[in-house]
This record gives sequence, structure tokens and C-alpha cells, in this order.
Amino acid sequence: MIRERAYPVEPWHVRETRLDLDVLAQSESVFALANGYLGLRGNLDEGEPRGLPGTYLNSFYELRPLPYAETGYGFPESGQTIVNVTNGKLIRLLVDDEPFDVRYGELISHERVLDLRAGTLDRRLEWRSPAGRVARVRSTRLVSFTQRSVAAIRYEVSVDQPTRITVQSELVANEKLPPQSNDPRVAAVLEAPLQLEERLVQQNGGLMIHRTKASGLRVAVAMDHEVDGPDNTAVHTDAFDDTVRTTLTCLLSPGQRLTIVKYLAYSWSDRRSLPAVRDQAGAALAGARHSGWDGLRAEQRRFLDEFWDTADVRIEGDPEIQQAIRFGLFHVLQAGARAEKRPISAKGLTGPGYDGHAFWDSEMFVLPVLTYTRPEAVAQALRWRHSTLDLARERAQVLGLQGAAFPWRTIRGEECSGYWPAGTAGFHLAADIAYTTMRYINATQDVAFEREVGLELLVETARLWRSLGHHDRHGRFHIDGVTGPDEYTAVVDDNVYTNLMAQQNFLDAADLATRYPDRAAELGVDDEEIAAWRDAAAAMHIPYDEELGVHPQSEGFTRHQEWDFANTPQDHYPLLLHYPYFDLYRKQVIKQADLVFAMYVRGDAFTHEQKVRNFAYYEQRTVRDSSLSASVQAVMAAEVGDLELAHDYLGETALLDLYDIARNTRDGIHVASLAGAWIALVAGFGGMRDYGGKLSFTPRLPSRISRLEFALLWRGKRLRVDVRPHEVTYALGEGDTDASIDVLHHGEPLRVTAGAPITRPIPPAPPPGPPFRQPYGRAPARRSAKSD
Ligand code: BGC
Repeated sequence: MIRERAYPVEPWHVRETRLDLDVLAQSESVFALANGYLGLRGNLDEGEPRGLPGTYLNSFYELRPLPYAETGYGFPESGQTIVNVTNGKLIRLLVDDEPFDVRYGELISHERVLDLRAGTLDRRLEWRSPAGRVARVRSTRLVSFTQRSVAAIRYEVSVDQPTRITVQSELVANEKLPPQSNDPRVAAVLEAPLQLEERLVQQNGGLMIHRTKASGLRVAVAMDHEVDGPDNTAVHTDAFDDTVRTTLTCLLSPGQRLTIVKYLAYSWSDRRSLPAVRDQAGAALAGARHSGWDGLRAEQRRFLDEFWDTADVRIEGDPEIQQAIRFGLFHVLQAGARAEKRPISAKGLTGPGYDGHAFWDSEMFVLPVLTYTRPEAVAQALRWRHSTLDLARERAQVLGLQGAAFPWRTIRGEECSGYWPAGTAGFHLAADIAYTTMRYINATQDVAFEREVGLELLVETARLWRSLGHHDRHGRFHIDGVTGPDEYTAVVDDNVYTNLMAQQNFLDAADLATRYPDRAAELGVDDEEIAAWRDAAAAMHIPYDEELGVHPQSEGFTRHQEWDFANTPQDHYPLLLHYPYFDLYRKQVIKQADLVFAMYVRGDAFTHEQKVRNFAYYEQRTVRDSSLSASVQAVMAAEVGDLELAHDYLGETALLDLYDIARNTRDGIHVASLAGAWIALVAGFGGMRDYGGKLSFTPRLPSRISRLEFALLWRGKRLRVDVRPHEVTYALGEGDTDASIDVLHHGEPLRVTAGAPITRPIPPAPPPGPPFRQPYGRAPARRSAKSD
């Protein structure tokens, strides 16, 4: 599966040394810059050639119809699609009278570097025009973490003989998008979604305000330029149609430079007036100019230094994974840092894939990482879910249920999935939200959040489960007709993952309601209701196949017909693009970790022997057609003792976008999969679990990794864990005086106090069992035998 490596291995950079136009769209995703509010794809400054132009604002969407061949009651009527908003990245260059374009003349050198500590994308190139003039360009781009509406580009040109240089720096709306494929996961093409409301031109810049046709959202984008060039440099700005253009012209001699700093400010609203949105962009622009280029860069660096101080994961023995985990964490931060009561979508703000929708990816992959590295972003993301509660309650009513039915995929809170078996029926999302809410509360002890936000999320999700499930005549509680994480098995009874997560949801809701009786009473919770939740949790039915000695993923799963893997051609993966769902649903073929996921997040509900047997069983039937699978399989492979297999899965999840393993990185990077690299390392090789608010570790390294260091923020303190092959050291971060953290190390209780690191031996691994097998052709690429 893994193709040639595109980027050399370096610890803190992702470097492209040669421009390969065949993978331009992929590199635009890899080199995307974002802060959770604003995202710019890594398009070339001059705009062409391009894979997919892309500039996104979190939650800025257009409505589109969801046509059905056969409609049904409760089907969502319209969808939401992320809009490619006004492009402010464009800087076109004319060398004498020839436009700089990498496809013409001679590209003598071209390098792009994503700097993970500086938070910038740097580009350096040397180009000889068809007429033989040589121009050198250096550009650096950033999307500010500290000023969320702001992006800036420093663009510098020099020449080797006197040359007329013209730079056109633009704002362009309604860029033409290339036609998309038939893959349903790809965004719907929206033709010219923005209507011009206002255009403003000043000497050094300008502004445009547009509004979407159907969703009625308004966006203002403003630009300004600082110019440093020869005395003869002339600057003016003009505008036409959907374009504002600042033109700079000069005669440049060798030894001279033309340097431009372009400041961009974005603001949008669904309700504020045009003057208000205009002023907001103007104010953001003024802020950016006030900081200046050096100030913006310094702020960016400080923000990232602080992030890396906790979040960095250091690995010895596998430099490729070292680079990939930092790249992954950087993109996780870019997706969530400044989302601020907005969703974190599956592609972050790096591309139009999945229409820009947020899924459970956020709660089960991205937020767990941020909980221990940047918890304030988790509070914001959960506050966004909370802000959509009214819509979720309405949806529950439509479905004849109580409590809140959160949408399987959405931007603003309405259900946007037109395929209900893998949409509406994916009710586990409710328990995923509850689970992550508790995790955040346990890790931070954020009492205000717990009372205001956490309790209501828990209560409304518990209500959903209570109305969705039922007690049978023996008193057992069942949840029927739902779809678990595995989307190749749909609308089933008693999916184990769903039932165990719902059970936890009931218990957590009951505990929280008991802790805050006044607030619970305001939400209409009484003792009866709490008792009903506890009863349902105690009576939750967890199917078990006595004959095979494994848990069926859902009732009856293990007696379904087996999938014929031996006769499935390798180019027929992902199966969903080559076989009807009808066939996938009735056979034992699994898209992504489901029962195996349950064994990670509810590991307390299984014995070790059950975990080993279940893992072996599901490993043989899981094809990993979702990139969400590998990280979970890594965690459980490590737990059941196959550290080398865990390492292989870690490789797959961590390198997914750098190698374009899923062949769709062009549509945006896979945030959950990149977050999964952290999960595979910390929960896999670190063995970190946080059940019921207790931190435990069972560290063990695979043969090729000789050291793994990571840190977790836990209740305001920083726990540093340093794993070597035979021992591990737990320490508190500097500055955490008088503090202590209780942990379990391979079952042994430890109290880690400030200034007193504790080192413990790692117990020898139990002897390996028989090797785990995957479906024919689906084993992950090996890492241990590879040399770098
Ligand atoms: C997976 C889902 C996931 C979605 C977005 C699908 O292919 O099966 O679990 O939420 O992609 O990443």
C-alpha cells in the first residue's frame, strides 16, 4: 500500500524538494495552514496550476438539496456544504511581460517547507522565464493562532539582471472548482455560491463582502500590503467583478529586493449587519498591521512553543514516525485550536472532503488527544455540541424519541446524512459525546463546565438511550436497530460497542445528576428517572457467543456468512465502492474497529482472555476501509501483546496523509487518523487508560522503538512519561510544586510528586500467542523489518 515517500524524514519539518504536479492536490492538503477558524490550502501563491483551490471558514456553509430517488419520513431535506470562500492567498508575478508559471520557462529550483515549530509554510524558488530572465521568490505564509481572523504572507522577489517586476496581489471570490469524482465522499460542487454585496478599494488594498445565496451567511475579507522596494515602486488597487487587485510595479536591479507583506482578515456572520461584518474585518486587519510581520511570527512561535511543551511526543528508533506524529499533532491543533464553539470537521479546514462535515471522529479521536494537550479546545468543541441541543432535541422528536439525537454528520447541527442506515442509525454518537464529556471533566475538573454543559449533555443523551432501548420480558435491556462504528454492518440489535457506551452514559448521567441535584431538577430529572437509568445500565444485554468464545459485534453477527476474502481483488478496496451494501451488511466483513473499539474504551468490561480471543477473531475480518480503524487496532494489538503489529498499525495511521495511503488526501487531511497516531503511541505503547477518572499505564515498546516520551495535562499539572525498553519514569512537569498525581503502573499504585520522578521496571511481556491474521492482502505494511 505504501508508495514512495514524498517528503524526506526530518524531525520538525515537512519538506518538498521538487514540485510534482501529479500530486499537487495532495500537497495542498498536507501544506494547508489553519487555526480552527480559518484554513488555507497549500495552493501555490500564483494560484495556478492548482489541484483544488481552497479557503475555508469554520461553519461557513451553503445549503444544497438532498434529492432522494425514494424519500421517506424523517429524511433530512437539505445538506450543508463547506464553501470555498474568497481567496486571499493569490499573488501573481510578472517577470518583464511574462507571467510566472511553473509550467512554462524553467523551474530551476522549488522547495516548500512546513515548519511545525514556527507554524509557517515557506517557499523558495528560482525560475527562468521563457525569455531567459531569472527571478528568485521567497514566500512565507501563516494563519495566525493568536489572531484567529488573520493570515499573512511575506513575498520577496529578486533578479539577476535589471528586470521589470509586477506583482498582482488579489482577493478573488467564486473561483472555478475542478469537477469532482463520483465518490460520494467528495464534496458537492457549488457553482458560484457567493453574491457580491460590497467592494472597497484603497491604494494599498481593499475589501469584499459576499453573501451565500441560500444559507444567507455574510463574509468580509480585507487585505492590506506593506511594500518595501526600490524608490520607483508604484502601487495601486482596482476592482472588478469578484476581484480586488493591488498591483505593484518596479524596475528591480540585481542586489535589490521587492518585499511585500500581505495582511488578510476574514470575518463572517449569519446575523450581523454588513457594516458590522465589514468593521470586524477592518479591526482584525488593523490588529495584524499593528503586530506587523515580525510580531505575528513571534506570537505564532510562542503559541506553538507552549503547545509543544506539553504535546510533543519524542520517539527514538523510528524517525519516520517521529516526523509523522508531530505533523499529525500540528494538524490536530490546526483543526481545533481556535474552533471556538464551532465543530471540528473530519478534514479540519484543509479541503472540501465529506462536505466539511463533523462526525464522531471529533469526539472519539480528536478530542481525546486535545483533552490531554489543549483542554480548552475540548471545552469549546463540547460547548458547540451543547449549543446544538435544541436541534438535537427536535430531531429526537421527529424520530419519536426523547432526549437529544445528535446528527451523524453536520456543520451547523442539523442532520445532513441522506443515508440513514449509516447516518441516523449511528446513534452511538450520543454516547461518544457523553464519554468525551466525562473524559474532559475527569482530566480537568472543570466544575463550571460540568454543571452548565456536561450535565445537560449527559442527561439528554441518557434520555435518548432510555427511549431508544427497552427491557425484554426477562428484564434485559436491549438497543435494537442501530449501527455501530462498523459501517459494513448496519441496523443491528445489541451492538456491543453501542450498548457498553450507552451503559456508561447511563451511569455517568446518574452520577452527575446526583452530584448536582438542583441543576438536575431544573432539567426535569427526578429520582425515578435516575433509577431507570441505573436499572437499564445494570440490565444492559451484552451478547456473547459461547460456542466460539467471542463477543459477536452485534446479536447474531458470528453466524453470518463469511466474506470471501481470497477472491476479493485488491483493487476492489474500499469495498463500498465495488459491492452493494446489501452484500456487505449480511456477511462477516468489517469496515473498521467496532467490537475492538469497545475493548479499548470499555476495557473494564472484558477479561484479558476475552480480549485476546475477540481481537484474533475480528482481526481476520476487518478490512480497514476507514482510516479510523488502524489506530484502534494498534491500541488493542499492543494490549493483547502483539507490539510489532501495533507498530505496523501505528505506521498506517501516522503516515496516512504523508504517503496518501487512502488515496484521497487531495480532499483534505484525515484529522482523526492523525490524532490516532497519538492514541496509538500513548494508549498503545504507553498503555494509558483513564477509566472512571483514574490514570493507568501499562507501557511496553516494540522492538524498533527504543524510547517514547510524552506528557499529559492532568488537572492542571503536567505528567511526563518516559518509556525505555525495560523501565519507565513518571515525573511531574517543572513548575508543578506541591503537586502530585496518582497513577497505576502495570497495576501498581504510584503517587508521583513534584521533584521526585519515579522509575519502575516494565514487567516482561507474556509469551506471544499464535500470530494474528488479517484478511487476505489486508495486513498492514511492516515497520520492524524496514530500515530508514
Ligand atoms: C467512517 C466513519 C467516519 C467517516 C468520517 C467513514 O468512512 O466509516 O466512521 O466518521 O468516514 O471520517
